[in-house]
Amino acid sequence: MDCIFCKIVAGTIPAKKVFESDQVLAFEDIAKVAPVHVLVIPKRHIESVLDLSPQDAELLAALQTGITSVAQQTGVAGTGFRVVSNCGASAGQSVFHLHYHVIGGRELALSLG
Ligand code: 5GP
Ligand code: ZN
Repeated sequence: MDCIFCKIVAGTIPAKKVFESDQVLAFEDIAKVAPVHVLVIPKRHIESVLDLSPQDAELLAALQTGITSVAQQTGVAGTGFRVVSNCGASAGQSVFHLHYHVIGGRELALSLG
């Protein structure tokens, strides 16, 4: 499969890992928009949040555990941070492997658009 994040999971493309569990990987975004900008992804290829189903409840819990761990490890748990998942073209999704951006380390604009 020609998916950049699957290649990061497989280890064929390097990434700065921040957190790893059985089902989840977190690594630094290659083009940070803030001092802390980490992507939390399922190791299994899932295109977007629309492709999650009730069968993925355990995976969703594991993703949340990853987000919490990243926030604690990077220090933004104490200062505040944002969790964003872009879904589809109008939202600007550019990698079609589900990922949650964890962004913080500076004051963030209030606008989401
Ligand atoms: P999206 O635009 O789909 O919400 O987010 C994709 C993110 O993946 C972007 O912030 C982009 O900088 C990041 N990204 C794209 N290619 C790579 C890569 O090869 N390595 C890493 N670490 N991040 C990447
Ligand atoms: Zn993938």
